[in-house]
Amino acid sequence: MNILVINSGSSSIKYQIVNMSSNNVLASGVIERIGEPQSSLKHKWLKADGSYEEISLTREVADHREGLQWITKVADDTGLTQQLKGLFGIGHRVVHGGEVFQEPVIINDKVIDAIRKMIPLAPLHNPANLVAIEAALADYPEVPQVAVFDTAFHQEMPPYAFHYAVPYELYKNYHVRRYGFHGTSHQFVSKQAAAYFGRPLKELNLITLHLGNGASASAVRGGKSIDTSMGLTPLEGLIMGTRCGDIDPSLPFYIAQRSGLSFNEIDCMLNKQSGLKGICGANDMREIISRADGNDALALLSLDMFCYRIKKYIGAYYAVLGGIDAVIFTGGIGENSAVIRSRSCEGLQRLGISIDAEKNNSPSKEVREINQNAAPVKALVIPTNEELEIAVQTVETISAGK
Ligand code: ADP
Repeated sequence: MNILVINSGSSSIKYQIVNMSSNNVLASGVIERIGEPQSSLKHKWLKADGSYEEISLTREVADHREGLQWITKVADDTGLTQQLKGLFGIGHRVVHGGEVFQEPVIINDKVIDAIRKMIPLAPLHNPANLVAIEAALADYPEVPQVAVFDTAFHQEMPPYAFHYAVPYELYKNYHVRRYGFHGTSHQFVSKQAAAYFGRPLKELNLITLHLGNGASASAVRGGKSIDTSMGLTPLEGLIMGTRCGDIDPSLPFYIAQRSGLSFNEIDCMLNKQSGLKGICGANDMREIISRADGNDALALLSLDMFCYRIKKYIGAYYAVLGGIDAVIFTGGIGENSAVIRSRSCEGLQRLGISIDAEKNNSPSKEVREINQNAAPVKALVIPTNEELEIAVQTVETISAGK
């Protein structure tokens, strides 16, 4: 049983073909710069001998439909014709499901309409997701297609957690509330933790930390997200590569008054020129850590700020959950940076969280424990796999006929 997973951006399409019996990725790749004269395609596929081969190609790709057709052709050329003909389903990542979608759904005209209505909440992402959905429906009309929403996992947050203390009419008229993102990743690592412990997810209280270019924390009780750090948009919460995370809400008005910058310019500043980059000029954590090792003052400051903010969220979610079984690190930084993991948990021994230096410093691609043996709270590193989670949810949704 094979699933094609599509994660589409405004000028890119990422894809994976996953075999659900073996969990093997049969092929994966990305097209970038769609709409520009030279689009590029990287495609990696599993060969009969069990090894992967990769190719890079370029050509002009006018739009997502052409992009998808190119992917189909390259998959054909690399021996995947049968796999694509026999697709069980196609799973689409959709960023914003608003309050309408609490779980994945089979895509039909009504669903497309609803995703379109959510565009004001995700003006960059939902249109890009929609063009890929429409292209895939045109090219694979017989294959059931499922939308899996980044926001859905957080839809069970209680009202006191998702409301902002602003006039209630803003919620009623403009859907202003906290939604949360990275839901697929938070959900995936929560399930993985339960499997690792051999315990039902229902019994576990978890703090999940997705630390990549974008970063977010979630408080997960019994497999449900009851709070998360991102809000109406993915700007709120933790400090990120280029996003500021939590700030005083007056800050944009103050900057506008002092600098004369427009709201659009300030919006762009807070999303693209802030976070780690705003402080030290770099947003790649590897570069920042290496500069900090050389005692670069601003790199050190940005690391201090990044870890301090994570620690504050661990404390807050510990209180929200009333105690935890595990804190989980995932995402490019969470999976790979021992120093960020240990510093974010520094001084939390009284909460039962103590990191073991040796375990923390032993890299692995597997789920692993990095807490001291006697620590009451487990600390886990779990590689995220949003594509696999989308594939799993696609199968479940199609099988249940939802
Ligand atoms: P995205 O949110 O774009 O999916 P990723 O989850 O891939 O991002 O995370 C990217 C971040 O992970 C970058 O800041 C990168 O520097 C960081 N990263 C990757 N490998 C390491 C490493 N070995 N040590 C520290 N940071 C790392």
